[in-house]
Amino acid sequence: MEGTGARKITSLDPGDAAEIEQDVDEILGSIPDHVWNGRSLPVPVEEIAREVYGLRICVVSHDQMREVVADSLCDGTVSGLLLTGIGEIWINEDELQDPQWGAQRGRFTAGHELGHFVMHQKSRPAIYCRSSEAGESLDTEPTPRTVPEVEANTFSAALLLPAPLIRAELDVQGQSDEESISILMARFGASRKAVSRRVRTLREIT
Ligand SMILES: [Zn+2]
Repeated sequence: MEGTGARKITSLDPGDAAEIEQDVDEILGSIPDHVWNGRSLPVPVEEIAREVYGLRICVVSHDQMREVVADSLCDGTVSGLLLTGIGEIWINEDELQDPQWGAQRGRFTAGHELGHFVMHQKSRPAIYCRSSEAGESLDTEPTPRTVPEVEANTFSAALLLPAPLIRAELDVQGQSDEESISILMARFGASRKAVSRRVRTLREIT
């Protein structure tokens, strides 16, 4: 984990983002059929974590999370943790409380932690976290984060909102952006923010 003073960014260089996109595309393409057929939605992040990576997703209390993570590792509220030593992804139960957005947020956090597992794992057991994005809205710029954090978010978006499946939806004629986004949110089990950002990103890289 990078210490304080690590460079903070809001988005990756296009080349780095494209590389993650390609890696995720390969991962999704190699998932065994009984785990995911490549089409059904939402993308089953929990099953992928368990069947492909041997990681269990657990919902835990804020206090349990604070017991394993030092304040200095994660600013603010901890949304999720990856504990590579025991092979678990922890999702903060507070995060799931919101009846409207909880499930979507939990899915994105799970994808984020899976991204750390795939991209940043070291040989020693380690803990990775995701801090909450409280106060961050669609109208504000993304909060600057360290490179691994932005990479993990990029991974999660690519995994839960796969480019080919999103593009197929966007190609439907006569649908406004607003309509498309609402449909995508329901179909992919993602928040408005995640979908809006994903659509914007995919339009930029076509
Ligand atoms: Zn993280």
